[in-house]
Amino acid sequence: MVGRILVVDDVATNRIVMKVKLTAACYSVDQAENGAAALKAARETKPDLILLDVMMPDMSGLDVCRALKADPETADIPVVLITALFDQAAKMDGLEAGADDFLTKPVEEVTLLARVRSLLRVSDSVRELRARDDTVSAYGFAEAAQGFEGKARPGHVALVAPGPRGAVLWKAAIDDRIGGEVQIIPRETALTQATGTGNDPDVFVISVDLAQRNEGLRLLSDLRSRPGTRHSAIVMILPEGDSERAAIALDLGANDVLHDPFDAQELAIRISAQLDRKRQSDRMRAGVRASLEAAITDPLTGLYNRRFALHRMEQIMARPGGDPAVMMLDLDYFKQINDTYGHAAGDAVLQEVAIRLRGQVQANDLVARIGGEEFLVVLSGASARAATECAERLRACIGGMSFDLGGDTFPVRVTASVGLSLPGSSDPHTTSTPEALIHKADTALYGAKAHGRDQVSQMCDTAA
Ligand code: GH3
Ligand code: MG
Ligand code: MG
Repeated sequence: MVGRILVVDDVATNRIVMKVKLTAACYSVDQAENGAAALKAARETKPDLILLDVMMPDMSGLDVCRALKADPETADIPVVLITALFDQAAKMDGLEAGADDFLTKPVEEVTLLARVRSLLRVSDSVRELRARDDTVSAYGFAEAAQGFEGKARPGHVALVAPGPRGAVLWKAAIDDRIGGEVQIIPRETALTQATGTGNDPDVFVISVDLAQRNEGLRLLSDLRSRPGTRHSAIVMILPEGDSERAAIALDLGANDVLHDPFDAQELAIRISAQLDRKRQSDRMRAGVRASLEAAITDPLTGLYNRRFALHRMEQIMARPGGDPAVMMLDLDYFKQINDTYGHAAGDAVLQEVAIRLRGQVQANDLVARIGGEEFLVVLSGASARAATECAERLRACIGGMSFDLGGDTFPVRVTASVGLSLPGSSDPHTTSTPEALIHKADTALYGAKAHGRDQVSQMCDTAA
């Protein structure tokens, strides 16, 4: 990863000192000498990180930071504010303005480079997530991802401190300042709480030393490696002046570090920033997942769609002995259901059919809706006899029990015809394709329709 870093400072010497340090660490460096130039460069070149001087004649670094965060084009770019004079109020303003950190000149090289590495790593994964999210939205699957915006649950913050007293002080410092649940947990439960069930803490605040020295660092690495907490934000608390271990913590995957004694407001702001970021990336991840799900399923019934069914069949058929039984099921005179009771009633029948079909097969069998009222069922590894029995069960589960359409309508009877292509019925010398098997089942289905519907028909000769 070659990071591109924009260094913004009105004093040329400062820019050069910074450039030397960063170039030595193999980053590529661009420079801007005032706020306006910085905003222009950020928009045009999209750097991976911006190091921003606070005191500049045209526009303060704080204002530049606010402008960057307000513009969706540049809002994701991490910003580190750098100041000559330490000023706690300005630091709070900077963090509130969305800066990731606030360093005082002369900047310690270890601290700076560890922070740079950490921010570049995070912004890299945010960028990748955003690219995926944009891609699936562009393909028109965005609807499925909607609704995640509103569902944001309150944040969950877990505090892991060496003793109960420390944790109580931390909790008191942030309780009223951040929205969400703040919980003190002992070290042992931090790992067992990491269940991956969706209720894992969004942010962990961990002291670098727990019962033993460096135990917090070990916990940090452990949490990073577990599925349930891999995406949780982790803020490490270190003793004053311990910049060496702060750098180690950042390299082990901490999202932020803070030195004790800290300002309560500062801890609260840093946790809130991590909560916001975590929510945003959770939302993107959920959106991508839902969109991928939407790409392979039929929205009305939740069954797999045709495209996915063909893909799955190819996989099944590529396996040794992968000779599946294939059934095509088509509802009889379904047009009449729509004509008599309306399209919504027709939809309700299709949904109930999907439930009934799924109930007749095993979890690893494939059930898909591949046309308006046409369903495909694929059994892998079933004998001819088992497949024939299954086809009959599928027919019976539709025609054998009427459908309740709700309202004043009496339950209606709907029947289905099934065409079956048995395993082993293909010519062993020709390689069969999913389409060919579906075609065979379809031809059998045609026979079932021609012979009076509500029945199973199968292809019995290999020539067909
Ligand atoms: P057959 O026994 O020969 O299969 O007769 P049919 O009426 O079932 O077949 P036809 O192909 O003539 O009509 C299928 C009907 O299925 C027409 C269409 O309105 C309806 N249909 C297709 N997709 C949907 C859907 O998503 N919802 C509803 N409600 N109806 C659908
Ligand atoms: Mg039909
Ligand atoms: Mg049809």
